[in-house]
Amino acid sequence: MKLTILGCYSATPKINTNPTAQVLEIKNHTFLIDCGEGTQVELRRNKIKFSRVKHIFISHLHGDHCFGLAGLISTFNLLTREADLHIYAPKGLKEVITMQMKLSNSWTNYQLIFHELTSTSSELIYEDDKVEVHTIPLDHRIYTNGFLFKEKLGERKLDMNAILNADIDMAYYRKLKQGGDVPDNQGNMIDNSILTKDPKPSKSYAFCSDTAYSASIIPIIKEVDVLYHESTFIEKNEALAKPTKHSTAKQAAKIAKKANVGKLILGHYSTRYDGLNEFKAEAEVIFPNVELSRDGKKFEF
Ligand SMILES: [Zn+2]
Repeated sequence: MKLTILGCYSATPKINTNPTAQVLEIKNHTFLIDCGEGTQVELRRNKIKFSRVKHIFISHLHGDHCFGLAGLISTFNLLTREADLHIYAPKGLKEVITMQMKLSNSWTNYQLIFHELTSTSSELIYEDDKVEVHTIPLDHRIYTNGFLFKEKLGERKLDMNAILNADIDMAYYRKLKQGGDVPDNQGNMIDNSILTKDPKPSKSYAFCSDTAYSASIIPIIKEVDVLYHESTFIEKNEALAKPTKHSTAKQAAKIAKKANVGKLILGHYSTRYDGLNEFKAEAEVIFPNVELSRDGKKFEF
């Protein structure tokens, strides 16, 4: 998996940074996660081909997470896109986008398929043979979901020494990779675990923005390889976090620790802060493996 941060600040504009947007490249997909203003330019800057984007996941309808979408949809049209575009977003976004297209008489030539989200419990919203995506219900001022991206476990690996020792016909290799028991040349059934090894562990990524501290997400994101958790404020401004239903860096770290994740990436910083070192320092007291997101930064895992 490769995660590219296109924008990682909240609310108002700031020079050299953008509101929330990320690209996750996973198993030949290019998933766009949130689409704040500036997303198109950042896609260009990071050399991500527009035509690769076929699925867009929007956490909620606050502007710093979706005001770039109408422009991107329009650009896809100008670029004569033909491929379907799937948008997974809270109910309401379809109405906003449709109204915009109607009043400007600029319907798309490609199919725009909205998957409207309303559930307040985690649900599977995308699945193919290699990847699945689940919602992570968050606690924000309006209906908001994070997203959990998981690779599916691959096929079992053949243990060639064991297979040759047990004298297994090549015709059974396919069945072995799929986990089945197979006969040897004398007709004795051999247990799959003797002839194969576990597949490479599957990777997972959880995106959680925006949210107040919410312990209910812990079981959903348990042991993910990488967690992006918003940290709009640092501890001294906790009084601002509560009414706006945002988190502090310390709260994000508490979630990372309790969920036993591999790495925590912080982001969605309030534009009131000039430096970000305090965010990292505050979180590291609780959880050791912390990184700061910055526009254009890439994470491979
Ligand atoms: Zn918000």
